[in-house]
Amino acid sequence: MISDNLQRIRKELPSGVKLVAVSKFHPLPALIEAYLEGQRVFGENRPQEFAAKAVQLSQDIEWHFIGHLQTNKLKLVLPYAYMVESVDSVRLLDAIDNWGVLHSKTIRVLLELHLGAEETKHGLSEDEIREILSAAVTPLPDGGQRYRNIRFCGLMGMATNTDDESVVRADFQRISSLMESLSAEFGVDSSPVLSDFRELSIGMSHDWRIAVEYGATIVRIGTDIFGNRQY
Ligand SMILES: *Cc1c(COP(=O)(O)O)cnc(C)c1O
Repeated sequence: MISDNLQRIRKELPSGVKLVAVSKFHPLPALIEAYLEGQRVFGENRPQEFAAKAVQLSQDIEWHFIGHLQTNKLKLVLPYAYMVESVDSVRLLDAIDNWGVLHSKTIRVLLELHLGAEETKHGLSEDEIREILSAAVTPLPDGGQRYRNIRFCGLMGMATNTDDESVVRADFQRISSLMESLSAEFGVDSSPVLSDFRELSIGMSHDWRIAVEYGATIVRIGTDIFGNRQY
């Protein structure tokens, strides 16, 4: 069943769009079934579960952390993370950078844009994202970089959770436009610090087909692959 779901989604997903299989709340056998179907990119949103699965499964899996991350949980996540998609504060970004310096690892991150109305959702404002990138590209007086061990790879966003497609489209339009203006403003193509800033991670089970229309390069799909969450 999981393998059927994966095959169906892959058939529909344009080439060049990365599929993150969101396996949170699903037990290891479910992940293994997806792995045997060729899936190598997985996403988790809870540090403990992320670490437990990462140590038990194959080394060739690309793990994306996609949940709210507290700075005291970095040691569970960063040793295994290919990418942290959910950087939602400057404080977290600083902590990740410091961890990276201490452990000689450069961490790929996406900056999470706060989309939608729900107040509980995490994320940065457009202004905060501009400030971060501006600090990132501005050399320090000693010639060094503000963020030494961070690789800025793009933006992540979660559209408003609603059946109203026009609201979802408006959210995706906003993050997609922001991506374009940032690329222009910061000369992403010619900036060594931002040369990898091209990923747009939008789209989940119920809205990934729409997200693709707005330039998604990464979609994060859980329920459509694994079914309803188990525990
Ligand atoms: C759970 C989750 C997903 C996947 O959601 P589904 O609706 O199950 O596809 C995607 N992104 C984030 C950030 C999540 O927490």
